[in-house]
Amino acid sequence: MAEATIRFYAELNDFLPLARRRQDIGVYFDPPCPLRHLVESLGVPHTEIELVLLNGNSVDLEAPVDDGDRIAVYPMFEALDVTPLLRLRPAPLREPRFFADAQLGRLAGYLRLLGFDTLYQNRIGDAALVELANAERRIILTRDRRLLMRRAVTHGCHVRPVKPIEQLAYVVERCDLVRAAHPFTRCMDCNGLLHGVAKQAVWEQLEPATRIHYDAFWQCDHCARIYWKGSHYRALQRLVDTALGRAEQPA
Ligand SMILES: [Zn+2]
Repeated sequence: MAEATIRFYAELNDFLPLARRRQDIGVYFDPPCPLRHLVESLGVPHTEIELVLLNGNSVDLEAPVDDGDRIAVYPMFEALDVTPLLRLRPAPLREPRFFADAQLGRLAGYLRLLGFDTLYQNRIGDAALVELANAERRIILTRDRRLLMRRAVTHGCHVRPVKPIEQLAYVVERCDLVRAAHPFTRCMDCNGLLHGVAKQAVWEQLEPATRIHYDAFWQCDHCARIYWKGSHYRALQRLVDTALGRAEQPA
């Protein structure tokens, strides 16, 4: 039996029981043991980790750990310049696309509102979700850390906040989405793209008051839902501005 010492930094401590946070943790194992196994046995998903130092050297998660080794584990946003060191994550996906798990339906709608291609299926099993996410190069969004501990997961994000609006802000920051956002270009219901449509073409489907007050309409390519800048639009615009950190416009 060998012993190594692990220390987790910054918000990675949130995954640990209170008594183990912000301190050296002794772990016992039979060598050779990959670093990934020790880290995840303590409850920290590999998708949340940016950098690991083994006795001061940056290594990947498959590095074997030996008796007496010291391991330091850093999250994505630890204020530490890791540029010259080895980053663990695969290169960021060029065009961020998402797969929200069953608990994150509202978040999925909000990401679509910002224009991000976001799948949401509440009856899919974990294995199928991971397979589909990888096939389509989607970032898995979940509050279930067990899902992110699946080895096949390459891009994932553990969504910590509970309220959907705070979840959106978290994902925008973590995945650096501000500049890639194209609000109001995608259907919140079904993820289809919106296109402008002539009022006359949708006339039959409009309520009388909508016919009177609005002239510009958009329609979903996929489910044919019609959108216009009605009373709900201002609330959604505020939500978009908040999520993207834009200053409030004076009234
Ligand atoms: Zn739609």
